[in-house]
Amino acid sequence: MTQRKRIALVGGGIVGATAAFYLSQKNYEVTLYDDGVGQATSAAAGIICPWLSQRRNKEWYQLASKGAAFYPQLMDDLGESLTHSDIYQQVGALVFKKNLGLLKKLEKTALKRLETASEIGELALLSPKEIKAKFPLYDSEDSALFASGGARVDGSLLTEKLITQAQSNGLGYYSEKVTLSSTNSSEYVIHTKTHAKTYDTVVLAVGAWLPELLAPLGLNVDIRPQKGQLIQLHLQEEMSNWPVIMPDGEKDIIPFANGKIIVGATHENDGGYDLTPTTEKLELMLEEAIDIAPGLKNATITGIRVGTRAYTSDFAPFFGVVPEYPNLFTASGLGSSGLTSGPLIGHMLSQIISGEATDLPLSNYPVEHYIKKIRT
Ligand SMILES: Cc1cc2nc3c(=O)[nH]c(=O)nc-3n(C[C@H](O)[C@H](O)[C@H](O)COP(=O)(O)OP(=O)(O)OC[C@H]3O[C@@H](n4cnc5c(N)ncnc54)[C@H](O)[C@@H]3O)c2cc1C
Repeated sequence: MTQRKRIALVGGGIVGATAAFYLSQKNYEVTLYDDGVGQATSAAAGIICPWLSQRRNKEWYQLASKGAAFYPQLMDDLGESLTHSDIYQQVGALVFKKNLGLLKKLEKTALKRLETASEIGELALLSPKEIKAKFPLYDSEDSALFASGGARVDGSLLTEKLITQAQSNGLGYYSEKVTLSSTNSSEYVIHTKTHAKTYDTVVLAVGAWLPELLAPLGLNVDIRPQKGQLIQLHLQEEMSNWPVIMPDGEKDIIPFANGKIIVGATHENDGGYDLTPTTEKLELMLEEAIDIAPGLKNATITGIRVGTRAYTSDFAPFFGVVPEYPNLFTASGLGSSGLTSGPLIGHMLSQIISGEATDLPLSNYPVEHYIKKIRT
């Protein structure tokens, strides 16, 4: 009898959890190791709305828009309702700009994008009164662009569901930090505090921690960490159908079911891997959110979340095989849109490992640009 392929996934954020979910449905022996400390996925705000971004990078847009479009399939594969789920729901998104001229310019871009991305849904410029009808906490004079396909996702609930379902398909799951080494016969060894195990295939879905995992193999990785903080509030309101609010600046407002509402997030390049909440920054963000949604004054703060985003020097994500290391795969550099693109990337990693055609061309997200041999 031939032995099943042994696959280790390192990192249980959105990329690793999605890859584990799809790989566990095949005839492989799959194991997931996740430290969890600083994880971006469980700290994330949860906005899925790439079409109204002003970013010009075509490959990024293709990945993020396809990633957003992939969510309904993922929910279906998980057996989740598309209309009533605490995990993911298309509640619409409202984007604000400094003035009406810029808002109209954005509408033009969005209408053009609608031609190739029907998942944007209905697009409309809404008056303050119309905004208030959708988001009752709103009290400001600005108009906004509404996209009905905008969605919110709870990263923690999503990864929990993906991992639980993968476990029911036989996934082995270890909540611990590991290191990696390679053998002469192109196999890889995962080392925990207590044991070492050899695998044929390894996937490193470790976000901002990829440089430290690959350094022992003599590889240098173009990834830097960025600290992100947000505030979790509770309001005595039923908000499960309220849209996501994206004002100009950092203070997005994301309502969830059961009275949960998020305000965030910061983008702190000098924060690196630090996970200490800083009251000043959080208070400022909350004040700015209260300026446009005064009803937030009545909310109770229920938590603060801090996570680490991973950025490459040109802000582009990458995924695929690590050069010169057959059967060693990775994905990183998802930046501030990884909840949007992460599930599709996890799905594509499972396609690559299974020898299937990928949803997008890998050559647009080349690993070799970001991972290089350290010259001695
Ligand atoms: C505050 C904040 C708000 C955000 N908001 C949004 C948003 O609204 N929309 C959006 O699309 N994106 C958002 N993002 C970005 C998004 O969260 C990330 O891009 C995405 O979650 C990255 O997923 P990942 O799986 O690559 O990495 P991560 O989620 O960081 O997962 C990596 C995992 O690997 C583990 N790990 C690392 N090293 C090891 C090791 N040696 N052994 C074992 N495990 C290890 C880590 O502990 C972690 O659990 C936000 C991020 C932050 C921080």
